[in-house]
Amino acid sequence: MSLKSVNDILGVLEQQTKWQEPPFQRLLNCWAEVVGAVVAVNARPVSIQRDVLWVATSSAAWAQNLTFGRQSLLLKLNQKLPTPLVDIRFSSADWQRPPDVQKLPPTVLPHEHPSYLGAKISPRPEAANTIKTANDAFESWAKTMQTRSHNLPLCPQCQCPTPPGELERWRVCSPCATKHIVH
Ligand SMILES: [Zn+2]
Repeated sequence: MSLKSVNDILGVLEQQTKWQEPPFQRLLNCWAEVVGAVVAVNARPVSIQRDVLWVATSSAAWAQNLTFGRQSLLLKLNQKLPTPLVDIRFSSADWQRPPDVQKLPPTVLPHEHPSYLGAKISPRPEAANTIKTANDAFESWAKTMQTRSHNLPLCPQCQCPTPPGELERWRVCSPCATKHIVH
């Protein structure tokens, strides 16, 4: 793995962390205050998609009522949010579904990142005795990475060995995914 691709992965990580921050969390925090206790019991924000807020309601009647009042609700919510919402959709169909935010970890942990290959990146214990200098350590690391990359599938875009987790997530390697995200 080149230093460049390490930097690319860090860039992706950084962007992902930003994506996981509000506005949705911020919206949840102010939701009950804006809509009031009665509505909050019957209407629960589920997600924000393309600046449209999706709200699950306890019944179709609640969905209908809130749809009528959504413009004034939109105004009140947008005063609290960093990026304004363009619309709100209410549906009783999503009521049983837990909100998206519960599925997201607060930060990306290394083992949750698609580039993660396992916990054995550090030299094995029996190899530790033979590593005397930083250079030895680097060579051992490089050898490990090289062995790993020989077993890895290739990125369909640039043909570099790519961790399967990255292909699963982006269908390309993380540097290619980064290029894609930027555009
Ligand atoms: Zn690639």
